[in-house]
Amino acid sequence: MRLILASSNSNKLREIKEIYHNFKDTFEILSWDSLITPFEIEENGTSFKENALIKSKAVFSALQEANLLEKNDVVLSDDSGICVDLLGGAPGIYSARYSGGDDKDNLKKLLDEVAKLENQTSLAHYCASIGISSFYGDFNTYGFMYGSVISTPKGTNGFGYDPMFIPKGYTKTLAELSSEEKNRISHRKIALENASYLLRALSQIHINV
Ligand code: IMP
Repeated sequence: MRLILASSNSNKLREIKEIYHNFKDTFEILSWDSLITPFEIEENGTSFKENALIKSKAVFSALQEANLLEKNDVVLSDDSGICVDLLGGAPGIYSARYSGGDDKDNLKKLLDEVAKLENQTSLAHYCASIGISSFYGDFNTYGFMYGSVISTPKGTNGFGYDPMFIPKGYTKTLAELSSEEKNRISHRKIALENASYLLRALSQIHINV
């Protein structure tokens, strides 16, 4: 079965491939830009789930229209972000567009907002929603990672908001942990693990398209 990743975010693609490393025999992982020229997808949903499904459905439809799908192909998307309790859950689904700039600008803006809080820290969580579109319908899973955010960035690993997020039970930021450690506990790992049960089931269905 081919698992087509509907993302152009190189960090997400890397983490999804690392997390699904053990499923090499179940599915062949490729990204959508190896099959079709990537196009803009308007993420106008009101939740991580809606945005994940908007992406997986849009890519599945485009590949289907272009006659590029094979039997049992599945398209998988990831919509994710960070929610800070004392900021009312911001930036949430707007994590990628928080500052209007790139990942570095987004990190700087959130660091500045957290620095304005009384104790310069807050409880926070990451959320990832996985969208799956297939010949057998559309599915969705969630994963969460709880912890807190700080106003001084630490570490250089990971991406996005990782230098300011300390997972619950840890003293280091995600950017100070190795990718193996992050991939053991992350929102993305949990959402993908939940999705893996659906993918296994879909891989066992044999249909004619
Ligand atoms: P999306 O591409 O619309 O899902 O946006 C994801 C946003 O959330 C990006 O700005 C990322 O930087 C941020 N984000 C999602 N997952 C992570 C993560 O694991 N670490 C750091 N930032 C993340």
